[in-house]
Amino acid sequence: MELENRAPSTLRERYLHLLDELAAEKRAAGRSNDPVRIVAVTKKQPRETVLRAIEAGIGEIGENYVQEAKGKFDGLPPVRKHFLGHVQTNKAKAIVEAFDSVQSVDRIDAGRALAKAARTSGKPLPVLLQVNVSPVDRFGTKPEEAEHLAEALRREGLDVDGVMAIGPITEDRGEIRRAFERAARAFERVGGTTLSLGMSGDWREAIQAGSTMLRLGTALFGERRTSV
Ligand SMILES: *Cc1c(COP(=O)(O)O)cnc(C)c1O
Repeated sequence: MELENRAPSTLRERYLHLLDELAAEKRAAGRSNDPVRIVAVTKKQPRETVLRAIEAGIGEIGENYVQEAKGKFDGLPPVRKHFLGHVQTNKAKAIVEAFDSVQSVDRIDAGRALAKAARTSGKPLPVLLQVNVSPVDRFGTKPEEAEHLAEALRREGLDVDGVMAIGPITEDRGEIRRAFERAARAFERVGGTTLSLGMSGDWREAIQAGSTMLRLGTALFGERRTSV
């Protein structure tokens, strides 16, 4: 086997390879100079993997469950932590304590609980509105209601910085593109700086639709284990 054709095998190699592919996709989309952040989604990955990701140069990580995350976050090198899971109001305080941003605010009571917890802790908490553009996503506000929700949450004192959406699970690339375009239009109405679109299977379509932040698990770490 020729060395240069080898599939990237270590986490650092996969990360560097992905950065190359991302640069090429941005060029193809006419977005060479747009910054695009990468959030490494570490759910179901052990703490050692999180540490290796940070060593490899990853500066932002995402988790879906507070309880699982808390066990891994203790004593990590400085890294930005995003909450990606469903926001239960009774977990708002724990979420604010453990995370630097929340990407999955999809209703007023969740946002209100987070705003209150953020005020109490004195911690700034940028949030994204999760917009539902996929029939398989159980959560998320309707795109046509996003602007209204953003206004209501800003009145609560929440720092709404954009939109997050999960793409449909399908091989139909056109359907994925159309869903992401709906999310991008909602982002234009909501305002802010961050459009969090694109996971391991659909990040190229996300770049074409204007994503400023990819959330990547499998592409960096391989298949997830079933338990931590
Ligand atoms: C799990 C998850 C991801 C990462 O998914 P991959 O397909 O492994 O890249 C991204 N975003 C959210 C909200 C997730 O729950």
